[in-house]
Amino acid sequence: MAVVDLRSDTVTRPTEAMRAAMLAAPLGDDVFGDDPTVQALQERIAGLLGFEAALFVPSGTQSNLCAILAHCGRGDEYIVGQMQHAYRWEAGGAAVLGSVQPQPIAHAADGTLPLAEIEAAIKPDDAHFARTRLLALENTLGGQLLPFDYVQAATKLAADKGLARHLDGARLFNAATAQGADAYAEARRIAQCFDSVSVCFSKGLGAPVGSALCGSREFIARAHRVRKMAGGGMRQAGLLAAAALHALDHHVARLADDHALARRLAEGLSGIAGVHAQAPHSNIVFATLSGAARERGAGLLPWLAERGILATGLYQLRFVTHLDVDAAGVDRAVAAVRDYFAQA
Ligand SMILES: *Cc1c(COP(=O)(O)O)cnc(C)c1O
Repeated sequence: MAVVDLRSDTVTRPTEAMRAAMLAAPLGDDVFGDDPTVQALQERIAGLLGFEAALFVPSGTQSNLCAILAHCGRGDEYIVGQMQHAYRWEAGGAAVLGSVQPQPIAHAADGTLPLAEIEAAIKPDDAHFARTRLLALENTLGGQLLPFDYVQAATKLAADKGLARHLDGARLFNAATAQGADAYAEARRIAQCFDSVSVCFSKGLGAPVGSALCGSREFIARAHRVRKMAGGGMRQAGLLAAAALHALDHHVARLADDHALARRLAEGLSGIAGVHAQAPHSNIVFATLSGAARERGAGLLPWLAERGILATGLYQLRFVTHLDVDAAGVDRAVAAVRDYFAQA
């Protein structure tokens, strides 16, 4: 029985063509700056998003850490959303490793951080306060596209107040795909509102490992030192960079397919009594349960897993579509959820 793994878009295996690109990549020692494939990737992603420079890093977590520590010093703070990865899901790295304090803000229903809340969180220059140095946003946020006019307004407010602006764009190309027809152009349009942008290749883009941090040459030089400190200097990393380059060439246009499958999944789930799936903007479907379905909710994920359907449910039920899921898999997942609640 084939497994339909909807836990995350990180579960994809490299395609045959991606593996071939990895095998063919010219390699060197990237800690010496000698790996031509890493250099090609860094130039490609920086150019694509309109920045001077980029840094290839092993993970999105390390990318955000490098960014926060390159923007902020000890005793500084960054403004961030309560549900953002760079606050909630990174083991407190900026505070633990950089003595940088987060100032979390609650999200509005559309995922945005209200401008008035951002403004109120910026501390005056006074000995009582940490120095507010940075605004960090995430797009997509839990699969939600932040409205572009909001991104412009929030980043303009930050700049007017003298703050740097970082985007956790782990799923920037999903945001771009949800925003307009030309995903590369939309990604650049979003990215250009920020001083630094982190992009994951290991999510919907389908590469096995790696993220890139983009910014000015001088910013990337500072981030490079943090990467070294965090143990992220990798040697023949071109093997991995080749997969990321392949993904940028071949896996951006197809993100629209993942989004269409997520809509199909949400519509299917919403047809089941007691199951409420939000209409997804991109490739992540969240669902909640009500009434009798809610009372039986605890048994659902193990029951699905026994039938080869994998999902997660930390805050809500979560299903993520990606390269290794097709329409038949989505339909099997919907049918299995329906069967579970139809049991006597
Ligand atoms: C996955 C993710 C990260 C971290 O990436 P890892 O490679 O898992 O460390 C950061 N931000 C967001 C929004 C993510 O979804």
